[in-house]
Amino acid sequence: MNKDVRFLVSLQDIDNLLADFEGDDADEIRSMGFELGSGKGLRETKKKIRAALDPTLLRAYDRLSKVYRRRVVVPVVNGTCSGCFGVLATARLQQARAGDRPMVCEHCGRILFWL
Ligand SMILES: [Zn+2]
Repeated sequence: MNKDVRFLVSLQDIDNLLADFEGDDADEIRSMGFELGSGKGLRETKKKIRAALDPTLLRAYDRLSKVYRRRVVVPVVNGTCSGCFGVLATARLQQARAGDRPMVCEHCGRILFWL
């Protein structure tokens, strides 16, 4: 997996965890007696990942996050984008797998990776 895409997957995981810490569900989770902590360590790690990412890719992630929220970077499963379930063109898939550049879904624009 491309290094930047690996960072993006980690960034997305952290953003999703922080949303759990700070979102509407947090109060409900706390009311059930669970402690969520402050998320301070996650925010520090997020800052480091953002600083290490390619700026163009980071801007794309931020832009797509406004539309797709928690599912911006998604795996390709059996030639299909797992974000929109659109079938990806075989030629583009072969090109992307052979190269080391991030690929976006031709249907929804999400950033793709292979498991
Ligand atoms: Zn898609």
